[in-house]
Amino acid sequence: MKNQYLDVHPWKIIEKGFNPNNVKSSESIFSIGNGAMGQRANFEEYYSGDTFQGSYIGGVYYPDKTLVGWWKNGYPDYFAKVLNAPSWIGIHLEINNVSLDLNSCKEVKGFYRELDMKTGIYTRFFKAQVTDDCRIEVMVKRFLSMDQGALGVIHYTVKSLQGTCEISIDSFIDGHITNQDSNWDDPFWEHQKKIVSSELIALHSKTLKTEFDVCTFAHTSLLSEDGVFFSDFNTKDESWRLSQCNSLSLAEGQECTILKFGGYINGMNHSTTQFTAEALAQINHAKEKGFDVLISEQKAFWSIVWEQSDIEIKGDDKAQQAIRFNIFQLNQTYNGKDARLNIGPKGFTGEKYGGSTYWDTEAYCLPFYMATKNQDVARNLLKYRYDQLDKAIENAKKLGFNKGAALYPMVTINGEECHNEWEITFEEIHRNGAIAFAIYNYERFTGDTSYIPEMGLEVLVAIARFWAQRVHYSDFKKAYVMLGVTGPNEYENNVNNNWYTNYLAQWCLTYAKEQVAKVALANPRRFEQLKNKINWRQEEADQWTNIASAMYFPKHPTQDLFLQQDGFLDKELFPTSSLAMEERPINQHWSWDRILRSPYIKQADVLQGFYFFEDQFDTTSLERHFNFYEPLTVHESSLSPCIHSILASRLDKMELAYSFYLQTSRLDLDDYNKEVEEGLHITSMAGTWMSIVEGFGGVRVKNNQLHINPKLPNQWEEYSFKINFRGTLIKVGRTKKGTQIQHNNSELLVYLDGKAIEI
Ligand code: BGC
Repeated sequence: MKNQYLDVHPWKIIEKGFNPNNVKSSESIFSIGNGAMGQRANFEEYYSGDTFQGSYIGGVYYPDKTLVGWWKNGYPDYFAKVLNAPSWIGIHLEINNVSLDLNSCKEVKGFYRELDMKTGIYTRFFKAQVTDDCRIEVMVKRFLSMDQGALGVIHYTVKSLQGTCEISIDSFIDGHITNQDSNWDDPFWEHQKKIVSSELIALHSKTLKTEFDVCTFAHTSLLSEDGVFFSDFNTKDESWRLSQCNSLSLAEGQECTILKFGGYINGMNHSTTQFTAEALAQINHAKEKGFDVLISEQKAFWSIVWEQSDIEIKGDDKAQQAIRFNIFQLNQTYNGKDARLNIGPKGFTGEKYGGSTYWDTEAYCLPFYMATKNQDVARNLLKYRYDQLDKAIENAKKLGFNKGAALYPMVTINGEECHNEWEITFEEIHRNGAIAFAIYNYERFTGDTSYIPEMGLEVLVAIARFWAQRVHYSDFKKAYVMLGVTGPNEYENNVNNNWYTNYLAQWCLTYAKEQVAKVALANPRRFEQLKNKINWRQEEADQWTNIASAMYFPKHPTQDLFLQQDGFLDKELFPTSSLAMEERPINQHWSWDRILRSPYIKQADVLQGFYFFEDQFDTTSLERHFNFYEPLTVHESSLSPCIHSILASRLDKMELAYSFYLQTSRLDLDDYNKEVEEGLHITSMAGTWMSIVEGFGGVRVKNNQLHINPKLPNQWEEYSFKINFRGTLIKVGRTKKGTQIQHNNSELLVYLDGKAIEI
């Protein structure tokens, strides 16, 4: 059952009415971020009800000591987790000596919040009966500046609706923070230094073990109704809770605004000696501009984002709201300015998955950033892995591989593996293939041929070396086999010859070999340098060819089907339609043992391969595999419906494609999996975008040319999307009558439904 309590609106996420049971879900859904930092939509004022506090800083993590029941050699020592950081948003109010607390006040009326995706502004409004003779109205606007990455802004207006309100304001930075997802309840931060003045409150903290320095800062001022500013606040210093305080009296009908600037100076970008000066510079810069200018800059930023990447859907507001929400959250999570950062499955909206990097980035997120931003953004995502290549080689060495073979981690922040379930850490090795595929996909889409000789080739060779060592020749099968792996379907572990993994390995070996030859030919000087650096021997390429040409793929004995792995047909192949609703999701109702023995597939596995390599299979083959595997798929990974939506579009199964689209795009807004309070599914949001652009829109790049093949779901009157193809912004509109394509590059050739057209 879904939990739908939000209004449907094309540009806004809206919650009306106060329901304490939805507070944690809304804290996730109304999260804000700016690529450098992000925070859950926690209330500024005190809240005694159930809440999940969270404020996160890109790249700052703690190595939480691994917790396992039974240690296995090769396990990582720690799980790098993005930390809940000191919070700067707190504004506690005491009104006539009673603390303002929505959970305990006599009455809350008119509660309303919205996230305006057009402008990037989060607004909250409510009326509260604080005491019998005092009623107030509060309107809060909050955003994290897209221009000034370290800065956040809160504009908090209180109005007296009834009686005279004696208000005392406590605007603070709170260093008493914890992480819910902590293995040992360790403290993650050590506070070092503080500044407490009416000009600035600042807390210099260091993460334990990793020694990241962060300065949390804030500045509070008060704006009366007649435009007078007060910033001479008193201060309070209670251990690591630093406050700027003030008090005032509001006669009935009067209002005042608390303006708070705050954020983080990140030691990854500034030395600690610069912290105070930098915090003051951020504040002064914000003060000089003032709230109105800051808000108009925010709006201007978002209007450019939408100009370049909006998707408009007519006739289906739910679908419209959902795609904008997905695009909005992706822009809040990653901006590509810093190649040390990446995209955690929950972005800045929760702690689950540790804020770390998964194969989700390469397999799902890259296409979105590649087609909606300049190519540097996607290139930085690739560079992140290049910069971690040495650690991937070390990781492989730890598991017994050698000679420059690399196994990228399943989960990482700094290049070291963090995951510690053997069937995933050691066996879910297909992630290596997704990293190689992303390099191919990037060059195919952007046409940037410089990445491979500069960085990509080293990664491709190291990955190919891994596959060449991971397979072995089976005398019995007379082919190369790969034993003991886990495919994308994590509801099967330790299987032999997972078709998807074997296929990726074969493709990587061939592709790496081709790229070596290409660089050697086109760029001999660079190749000479690389040869020495990576100890290249031509015999390796010959060995890769031998393996690739004799790779084993499990097949159905009588039907023309690839099997997910050896022995798949031994299962009782009951379709998911035979599962009772009460048993779903099976991961919450069944024992793990039962799941493993069942035929049920968590997410696209064989079909993930058909998605990546669609040119290598014809539509009838795709249809056969889709019809065989989809009915067995429970879609219990957020990454599943989007791939199925794209494939269903390709097969003209438009009703199915549409229903998968709704599921992927409204996963969080409708809380399909009853877990949105833990945070949003950021990486699958990029899959949602793919469902429209690659699925319904049919966008592909083939032989260096852009192909578009748009289809219209029945539920929509029309839709349009925009992509940045090699520097040209292209708008594709599909109505019931046909397709319009707009761009302003006379050189560009576009293929529409397979035919070259001039625009
Ligand atoms: C999926 C993985 C994915 C991870 C993070 C898991 O549930 O099975 O494929 O990488 O979530 O999104």
